[in-house]
Amino acid sequence: MRQWLRTQGGWWLAWLLLTGAGAAWIAYAQIQQLHEDFDVNGRIAHRLMSQQVVQYDAVLATLALLEPAAGGGQPERRLPSVYPSILGVQRHAGGQAWPAPSLANAEARSRELHRPEYVADDFAAGRYRLLIAAVPASYLVDIDLAATVPWRDWPMDPKTSPVRVVLEKDGQQFVVQPGQSASGDGWRFTFRKVLASESQAFELVAERRVSWFELPWGAMAGWALAVGLVLGGAFMLQRQRIARRRAEDLLRLGQVSRLNALGELAAGMAHELNQPLTAVLANTQAARRLLDDDPPELDTARAAMRQAADQAWRAAEVVGRLRRVIERPDRQAQVRPVALQEAVRDALHLLAPEFDKRDVAPSTGDAAHSPVVVLAEPVALEQIVHNLLMNALQALDDTPAGERRLRIVIEREAAHGVLLIEDNGRGIAPDDLPRLFEPFFSTREGGLGLGLSLCETLAVGMGGTLAAAHAAPRGARFTLRLPLAPLGGPA
Ligand code: ADP
Repeated sequence: MRQWLRTQGGWWLAWLLLTGAGAAWIAYAQIQQLHEDFDVNGRIAHRLMSQQVVQYDAVLATLALLEPAAGGGQPERRLPSVYPSILGVQRHAGGQAWPAPSLANAEARSRELHRPEYVADDFAAGRYRLLIAAVPASYLVDIDLAATVPWRDWPMDPKTSPVRVVLEKDGQQFVVQPGQSASGDGWRFTFRKVLASESQAFELVAERRVSWFELPWGAMAGWALAVGLVLGGAFMLQRQRIARRRAEDLLRLGQVSRLNALGELAAGMAHELNQPLTAVLANTQAARRLLDDDPPELDTARAAMRQAADQAWRAAEVVGRLRRVIERPDRQAQVRPVALQEAVRDALHLLAPEFDKRDVAPSTGDAAHSPVVVLAEPVALEQIVHNLLMNALQALDDTPAGERRLRIVIEREAAHGVLLIEDNGRGIAPDDLPRLFEPFFSTREGGLGLGLSLCETLAVGMGGTLAAAHAAPRGARFTLRLPLAPLGGPA
């Protein structure tokens, strides 16, 4: 899980964010589009209905003007056949009493305002009346709203459209188009506008609900897939690049290690050779003393002894020279300021597969809180850290997987930068501790025993030290000290 989070977590997060943002944008655009369509339809419906009701005003005005009708043809009788939405027309001669006071009031208002006046009927059923006061007769017209709607030009299909359209007057509602219920989750659009007729100032109300269901899920899924493909491709590319770089680094480190190991081998040989040579020297000196006894073979013995001694000294000198060469006196010249944190990060990156394989998560305690910049040869430092980490990982092999701990601490200590690598692995036997840095000392099957000796040589070559200790309650602790770079040196 931890490993998955580290390598893929960021990518999944990016996918999630991009998918979320893109899908939100697609949904937003769709809702905007639906809203725009809804608004346009609302306006068209409003214009159509306004045109229709304004016609009634015109019809009534014409009726009033036609009086007194030439020939008395009573044209109002023919109106319902021309306008199916006009259910009936009543002519009311002046002076005649109205059956209801509301009609008398309407006539008075019509006369006052010089326009037809609305008279309530059963508005919810689509019925209302218009009254126009005129001389010698007033007219009362019954209107059917349902037949008024111009379905031919209507912008929506009244049977399937999700938009609900109603006309409202005095708290009563006439349903023009039922649509779908506007309650529930989702987004709601509303359009309200009063019809453009003073006598029939009905409010046209259109409502529509866009449910989650109507979002463009297909397009959003397509977007998520496309983002996934692009990010997946980038992820694979990046992984390949990291793997290639890691392989190159390992190769480079391997080459350097081999070269250094050779040097170390020579150092080991020198160490081994020095002792027999010293013995030869001691023996020949003893032999010379024997030859001094009676009877002595003075001349031959002395010549032989001198020769042996010369040989021995020359061998010692060769060994000494070899040692001087492999100690790489130029190492001091190659040091530059390096941040310990950086060296650790590089080594951890390089060893990431080893850590993963063993399921070890290094805990990196940075006691210094800022880069600890030491003077070191970067490759040598990298090698030391690499070796120490690898040793610690190998020492953890016997520890049960869940209990493996590897602690890395970086801190300052007087004039030194300190890197501490501690594990709770198998630890070091007390007898082995003083011999750990000797060349060819190894307790590991197949181990060369050159790693720590090389690390120490490298550390000392850079003016530092490397020390080993027991860790509590178990395990080993290696401490590398290197001189701090003078302040102001680049990290
Ligand atoms: P190699 O790994 O080839 O044996 P090294 O010089 O790296 O050579 O290590 C020498 C010995 O030091 C190892 O064989 C092991 O016994 C001991 N050693 C090194 N690191 C650790 C550690 N972290 N824990 C326990 N023992 C260690």
